[in-house]
Amino acid sequence: MNYYKQFLDFLQRHKLYERDSFVFISNHTVNINYNNQEERDFIGCYYSKDEEDKITNFKVWVPEIIDTTTLFINIHEYVHALILYKYLNEKYEIGLEKEALPLMYEKMYAIEEENISAKAYEKNLKETINEINTEEYIIGKKIAEELIYKHDDVKLLNEKAKELVRKYKY
Ligand SMILES: [Zn+2]
Repeated sequence: MNYYKQFLDFLQRHKLYERDSFVFISNHTVNINYNNQEERDFIGCYYSKDEEDKITNFKVWVPEIIDTTTLFINIHEYVHALILYKYLNEKYEIGLEKEALPLMYEKMYAIEEENISAKAYEKNLKETINEINTEEYIIGKKIAEELIYKHDDVKLLNEKAKELVRKYKY
């Protein structure tokens, strides 16, 4: 099975795929070449807000899916994008819960793919995420562990993640 198909399968399996959101996110995605170091720096999900603090738009920069590393990155950024999509035109404050769900779904992918060892997954995380030691990541990983496989509704999960920030913030 090719990597793009694995990506789609994962989204469908975990109810992250709905036609409308998928089409919208695809239309707001820029594909970069992962082997080009300069382009790699652009990887991320960027959003804009209006004067009332409502999310108005976003853009996702991800590498083309060609292997396990780029697949992990795509899952991560797709989850960021899907959360933003769910809050489009709403007032939404992004806080320290920001990395919890992207990290949680990455972990789920690692668990479900038998050919990916836990060690390889950790190594992958370290290599692909520059902000690994930020508060958002440290808290995000703890929240991810607490929420993993508990629910399958992204918006509900995100609200739970927001609540859990208080528990892990120091
Ligand atoms: Zn992230």
